[in-house]
Amino acid sequence: MPVKLSDSDVESLLKEIIGTNAFLILKACEVGRTDEEIAKITKLEIPVIRSLLNQLHTEGLITYTREKDEEHNWFKYTWYARKDMIVDVIKHTIEEKIQDLEKELDLETSYMFFACPNRCIKVPFEVAVEYDFKCPECGGDLQPFDNSKIIRKIKHELDANRRLLRRIEKFEKMREKENKAKKRKTKKTKQEKTSVSSKKRTKKQSKTKTSSKSKKKASSKTKTKTKKSKKKK
Ligand SMILES: [Zn+2]
Repeated sequence: MPVKLSDSDVESLLKEIIGTNAFLILKACEVGRTDEEIAKITKLEIPVIRSLLNQLHTEGLITYTREKDEEHNWFKYTWYARKDMIVDVIKHTIEEKIQDLEKELDLETSYMFFACPNRCIKVPFEVAVEYDFKCPECGGDLQPFDNSKIIRKIKHELDANRRLLRRIEKFEKMREKENKAKKRKTKKTKQEKTSVSSKKRTKKQSKTKTSSKSKKKASSKTKTKTKKSKKKK
C-alpha cells in the first residue's frame, strides 16, 4: 500500500526506524533520482549516500533502474522510493520490538534475581545458589534484587509499542479504503471507455476474438489435466 512520505506519522516513524539521513534520501527519491541529484538535494556526501542506498535497498524500501552511458561506458542508476513497502517495514520493525519486549518481560517476571552490590552481575536465584551467593567477579555477597522498576519500564515500553502498532494498522486500513475507492473509480471509467469502443467494433472482429479465446480455454484445460495427473503420481 503506497503512502505519502509527507505524512507526519510516516515521517516520524521512518526517521526513528531507518534514521534521518536515510529518510532524506528516500524522500528525495519520491520521483526517480540519480546519486548526484540525491547529493544536491540532501547535501550528503556521495559515499554516505551510496551506503544508505544499499541499506534502503536491503530493507526493500528502494528500487532502481540502470541505463548504460555509451559515452563513458558506465551504468547510470536511477533510484525510486518504494512507497508501497513503507508500512510493511514499519510494522515489521515494531512487531519485532514487541516480541523482544515480551521475551524480556517473561524473563523478568519468571525468576527471582540476585545481584552483586558492586553491579558486576545480576543472576536468577538458581544461578546464585550455584555461585554460593558470592559474586564470581569481585567476591561480594549477592543480594536479592528488586526488579519491579525494570518490569514497570518494560510494560511501559510494551504499551507504547502496541499503541504504535494499532496506530499503523488503523492508518493502513484507512489508506487501503482510499486506494480501493480509487481503484473502483478507475475501473468504472475504464469500463465506460471499453463499452464505447466495443460498440464501434465490427461483428467480424468480435467473432475472431471469441474463437481464439475458446482455443485458449481448451489449452488451459489440457494443462490443468496434465498437472493433476502429475500430482497423482
Ligand atoms: Zn561483584
